[in-house]
Amino acid sequence: MSMESIELEKKWTGHHEHRENRMRDIFEMMDQYGHEQIVFCRHPESGLKSIIAIHDTTLGPAIGGCRMIPYATTDEALEDVLRLSKGMTYKCGLADVDFGGGKMVIIGDPEQEKSPIMFRALGRFLSGLNGRFYTGTDMGTNPDDFVQAARETESVVGLPTTHGGSGDTSIPTAFGILQGIRATAKHLWGSTNLKDRRIAVQGVGKVGQKLVELLLNEGAYCVIADLNMEKCNQLKEEFSPYVETADVNTIHRVECDIFSPCARGGIVNDHTWSELQCRAIVGSANNQLVADQHGDRLHERGILYAPDYLVNAGGLIQVADELIGYQQERVLAKTENIYHTLLEIYERSRNDDIPTYRAADQIVLERLEQVVDLRRILLGSPDGSRRG
Ligand code: NAD
Repeated sequence: MSMESIELEKKWTGHHEHRENRMRDIFEMMDQYGHEQIVFCRHPESGLKSIIAIHDTTLGPAIGGCRMIPYATTDEALEDVLRLSKGMTYKCGLADVDFGGGKMVIIGDPEQEKSPIMFRALGRFLSGLNGRFYTGTDMGTNPDDFVQAARETESVVGLPTTHGGSGDTSIPTAFGILQGIRATAKHLWGSTNLKDRRIAVQGVGKVGQKLVELLLNEGAYCVIADLNMEKCNQLKEEFSPYVETADVNTIHRVECDIFSPCARGGIVNDHTWSELQCRAIVGSANNQLVADQHGDRLHERGILYAPDYLVNAGGLIQVADELIGYQQERVLAKTENIYHTLLEIYERSRNDDIPTYRAADQIVLERLEQVVDLRRILLGSPDGSRRG
């Protein structure tokens, strides 16, 4: 064997080993998170680089939004899509919708790299999954992007109403947060009455502003903070004296009955958990706890934490309903049920002396087990053959 061919072989073997390691790592990651399937999608002509992660389809086809972010590496994108899709399994389980957990990420800068053809390519990949996964907007993507995808697939949700979608999801999301706040009041004070309660709302964007209006209707006082000062001042002027403003950097420290994070995730962290001066946290932001340990600290301090993935599920409930023939009344009824689920979580947390996030996880796992057990019952078919 010539030196050249040895080098070539080494090079090939090296690549081969590298590839095998890479594959093994991905399977290890799938085992770690409990995933069923990962799909890598590539379309060089449009620049599409995307990963779809299907976590668990026990309850039904996977559903979850599609993010477009300029991830620094493929590993970073993979980690994100695995973590987020697992979260969707839990969210669907608690929301009691017949869907499983999935998520999709596009690696790229949404300001620079988006094009209609990219989303049509994405639509064709979605179509290839034959209804195992449904997606829609998330960070970096918008309904118009999915209007393009919908030209190639039926596996998209949350389209604009002009294209057959169900419209603004922040309406049921805010309504769901209100149900969470009512359940929290019931648990803490024995009544859902929010009259004269003081609620600090961080972020008065699409969800936060609607929530403030719902709370004012219930007779509550709101303290609000937003990076957009103009918006805050507008609301204060309109609803004075029931609305006051606070500093964005200290809103979490405001003395209040309930703190409602409706801006961004990670608000309960190493710095903030000890500074909170509320009896409970109930808000729409995703991933409010930086880590489980922060949920433990809240439990120790006697601050009730309403799991974000339960109380902010109104939007998911709405888009999932599109897939069974959208009915607004059904969406509101399901969203209203967040009240009962949260009371069940609080009760379990109190009886077993465990943090609320753990109680919520337990309920999801029990629901998944019940459905697995149900599948023992064989579905017949007209020709008498066995069907799973
Ligand atoms: P949005 O972008 O309309 O509003 C967010 C608001 O927060 C903006 O007004 C922004 O200026 C403000 N903000 C950002 N950083 C802030 C900070 N540090 N302090 C105070 N204000 C800050 O978003 P949205 O649709 O209202 O969603 C709010 C949160 O709820 C997000 O975390 C989102 O992921 C989550 N969520 C939204 C929905 C939905 O249906 N819209 C569903 C589930 C979860």
